[in-house]
Amino acid sequence: MTAKVIDGKAFAARVRGEVATHVAAMKAGHGITPGLAVVLVGEDPASRVYVKNKHASTIEVGMNSFEHRLPAETSEADLLALVQRLNNDPAVHGILVQLPLPAHVNSDLIINAINPAKDVDGFHISNVGLLGTGQKAMVPCTPLGCLMMLRDHYGSLAGLNAVVVGRSNIVGKPMAQLLLNESCTVTIAHSRTKDLEAVCQRADILVAAVGRPEMITAAHVRAGATVIDVGINRIERGGKNILVGDVDYASAASVAGAITPVPGGVGPMTIACLLANTLTATARAHGLAEPKGLTA
Ligand code: NDP
Repeated sequence: MTAKVIDGKAFAARVRGEVATHVAAMKAGHGITPGLAVVLVGEDPASRVYVKNKHASTIEVGMNSFEHRLPAETSEADLLALVQRLNNDPAVHGILVQLPLPAHVNSDLIINAINPAKDVDGFHISNVGLLGTGQKAMVPCTPLGCLMMLRDHYGSLAGLNAVVVGRSNIVGKPMAQLLLNESCTVTIAHSRTKDLEAVCQRADILVAAVGRPEMITAAHVRAGATVIDVGINRIERGGKNILVGDVDYASAASVAGAITPVPGGVGPMTIACLLANTLTATARAHGLAEPKGLTA
């Protein structure tokens, strides 16, 4: 079987285009420009790249981007004060505090200080609870991106067997919750799961969010299943530093019906969904209709 490649790069470009259209309409019709504030503490190289990309994408869709770069030694109190200022700033509709934060800062405390309505990462405990109870929430960007691609591929997901490998708060758990809300029959696997291959073989939809390079192979994939690879891992191969997913692409693609590549699959959707969430937060803040197809 030759798996269909789900092109996340093209899909994300489409989503960004839709967001830009909505932003232009908001500006023209209501004089409102959505604003995203991103807070970066310290010099983590990967985080710096993410923040730079987020800034560029935000500007590209016509939103305001407010960057706050703080030294690694910034105190928890100063960070809390900044979050409060952003909560109270009407020009800021979305707030993202780039993780990981330095060890001396309590990340949960900071994230839970963000106004849940501006929590475009969807990590605030209120948004976790809203998602868990099937209510209107801000949904974490990476799983939202996966959901959009799955909806596009299947239409309705109701009744499908979904297996999510990984139970982190930022990917695995919200992914499982979103699939449950779509009426999938959901299994969450993790490091203590017995006979992972057999568990994964039951999946119509297999989501890998493990953080282990190329761990998921053809042996885990049922013929015709859809494989969503969330993993981003840098490895050395053939003297080169390359990016691979949590799925062994060549192996899994030989049995899957559809598969996301790495790079060019889930990754680009994450920033596109951050912009979509900022748009949604702006619409909600101003009592405007929410953009269709860009939320859970
Ligand atoms: P975490 O390390 O927080 O979680 C990994 C999960 O995988 C844990 O639940 C762990 O189980 C489980 N796991 C580890 N080893 C095994 C194993 N051998 N068998 C089964 N389950 C296992 O990672 P994240 O959720 O933050 O990230 C997952 C991947 O997604 C990473 O590669 C990360 O880089 C990538 N990522 C990509 C994003 C994107 O934009 N595309 C955004 C965020 C993450 P246990 O709980 O039992 O320890």
